[in-house]
Amino acid sequence: MQLLDGKLVSQTIKAQLAAEVAAGLKKTPHLAAILVGENAASQVYVNSKIKSCEEVGFKSTLIQRPAETTEAELLELVQQLNSDPDVDGFIVQLPLPKHINDERVTLAIDHRKDVDGFHPINFGRMAQGMPAFLPATPYGIVEILRHYHIETAGKNCVVVGRSNIVGTPISILLSRKGYPGDCTVTLTHSRTHDLPAEVRRADIVVAAIGIPEFIKGDWVKEGAVVIDVGINRVADESKKSGFKLVGDVDFESVAPKCSYITPVPGGVGLMTVTALLINTLKASKREIYG
Ligand code: NAD
Repeated sequence: MQLLDGKLVSQTIKAQLAAEVAAGLKKTPHLAAILVGENAASQVYVNSKIKSCEEVGFKSTLIQRPAETTEAELLELVQQLNSDPDVDGFIVQLPLPKHINDERVTLAIDHRKDVDGFHPINFGRMAQGMPAFLPATPYGIVEILRHYHIETAGKNCVVVGRSNIVGTPISILLSRKGYPGDCTVTLTHSRTHDLPAEVRRADIVVAAIGIPEFIKGDWVKEGAVVIDVGINRVADESKKSGFKLVGDVDFESVAPKCSYITPVPGGVGLMTVTALLINTLKASKREIYG
C-alpha cells in the first residue's frame, strides 16, 4: 500500500506556481475570500487558502462578515467583487448561515471569477469537456491521480456521494475522455441498494459522504485505489483541541487492502486549496474566458 501524499503533491504544484509568479506575470494573481459567520471549520479552511496565496506570491483579501449579514448585503458584496478589476477570482466559503440561499449567491458570482467552479456555467462547460474552472476538490483529486500516474482508462470507479461540489463533478471528470478519465463510473448515494457490493466492484473508490469512517475494509477489493474526501471532526480527549480529523473511510481496515490510499488529514484537503490556486492563476491570465 502506498499513501497518496497530498502534502507532497500540493508542495510540488505550489513550487511551480511560485516559480511562475517569480518569473514575472503581467499581473499578480489576486484571490478574495468571503467568510460569513463564525463556523470554526470554515475559518480554518479560509485561513489556509489565504496562507497558501502568500506562499506562492499571490495577493489575497479576506472579507469577514458577521453571521447576521443579510442575503442582500452579501449579494451586494459579490457584485462589488465581480466589478473590481484587481480581483481575478473569489470564493464565498460554504456553508452560509441558514437564512442565506447558497444557490442565489453562487449564481450571482461572475463565472469568469468563479475559481471554486460552482457556477452552473463552469459546471456545464466541464460536463461538455470545454475549458472551465473545475470545482476545486474534484480538480485536486484529478491532479493527485495524475501525479502518481494512476491508471484510470477502463477502470471501474465507484463514487460514493452525489453532492454538487464533490461526488457529481468527480464522477463526470473521471468518465470524460482522456487522462485522468476514461473510467466506467458508478455514482452511488444514500438510496443505493447494497452499497458494499457496489464498492467491492471498484478499482477506484472515491468517498465523499460526510460520515466518519463509513467505508469498511471488507467493502474494498484487494488492490483498489481509495480516495477519501471526507473531513470529519470526532471527539478526541487526547488532543488539545478536543477533536481529531478522520475521513469517510475506515483507514485502519481499508488501507491494508489498497494499492494506493489518501490519508486524512494530508490527502485531498490540501489538494483542494492547491486547485483553487491553479484556478486563480488561470483567472488572472484570462486562460479560460479570454
Ligand atoms: P454532502 O453532505 O453535500 O453530500 C453527501 C452525499 O453522501 C450525498 O450525496 C448523500 O447521498 C451521500 N450519502 C449520505 N449518506 C449516505 C449513505 N448512508 N450511503 C451512501 N451515501 C450517502 O457532502 P459533501 O459536501 O460532498 O462532503 C462530503 C465529505 O467531504 C464531508 O466529510 C466533507 O467535509 C468533505 N469535503 C472535503 C473537502 C476537501 O477539501 N477534502 C471538500 C468538500 C467536502
